[in-house]
Amino acid sequence: MATITKAVPTALRLQDKVAVITGGASGIGEETVKKFVAHGAKVIIADIQDAAGEQLAHELGGPETVRYIHCDVTQEEHVAAAVDLSVSAYGGLHVMFNNAAVTGPVGPLDQMLMADFDRAYGILLKAAVMGVKHAARVMKPMQTGSIITTASVSAHIGSGPMAYTTFKHALLGMTRSAAFELRASNIRANTISPGMIWTPMWNQLPQAAIDKVQTLSFFPAMKTGVSHPIAGPDSIANAALFLASDDSSFVTGEDLVVDGSHMLCPEDLI
Ligand code: NAD
Repeated sequence: MATITKAVPTALRLQDKVAVITGGASGIGEETVKKFVAHGAKVIIADIQDAAGEQLAHELGGPETVRYIHCDVTQEEHVAAAVDLSVSAYGGLHVMFNNAAVTGPVGPLDQMLMADFDRAYGILLKAAVMGVKHAARVMKPMQTGSIITTASVSAHIGSGPMAYTTFKHALLGMTRSAAFELRASNIRANTISPGMIWTPMWNQLPQAAIDKVQTLSFFPAMKTGVSHPIAGPDSIANAALFLASDDSSFVTGEDLVVDGSHMLCPEDLI
């Protein structure tokens, strides 16, 4: 008679795994650092906000569990150093979360300074490519790994600042290409596309954009009486946890939209 093995739920999804999280000092990245540590991971916080990053690492247990590294993701040697720290401090790299970003230039596209567009390219697209490159360098010999990149609903529709929308679209293609090439090394690559998530990034947008969000009515959070219609970063940290863990071991080259119905009403987007 065949033996039936029941799946046993495990509380700690990332036990013995090591992650690098760029943009880990704030917002979605910060929440993901906390989530990953709570699930047993060792984490490298890679950011340019040194005080906030150091403080977070200290609060979550210090060097035994979490380390902060100053990492400007536009600088390849910084990205390489963050990845190398995961190996020297914790013995390897299982999860690379390319998450750091800025909104890039806002305002009419006919007034956009191309220097601003180039800067946005460096942070929004090239940085993620470098994250994939250096993660692959370490993960290929390990023959395992999950690379996650934060895209956006702006990767799917024509909304928001042009540079941001352009490079977020490109992240989906970059990820599919990486997933295709790296599948032979048992490395997965996926994106997450958040809808509107209440984080400090909103401070980079004009007040009019924030005011408009307050008028939206289709979000579940609004219907349940929560004071504003935007989700918190925990919703994205949960998605990152899924894609980082072995729960998603058959998922690669995909984009996970986490937007609370956002794209069902794209005309309401900023
Ligand atoms: P945030 O501003 O709270 O966090 C972004 C982090 O990136 C900050 O800690 C910042 O210091 C860091 N960063 C910026 N430039 C950097 C650089 N050159 N090198 C290293 N770190 C740098 O914003 P967030 O909302 O948490 O954004 C996280 C990700 O989510 C981004 O990729 C963003 O595009 C995406 N996203 C956010 C929303 C939203 O509504 N908040 C929606 C869709 C997608």
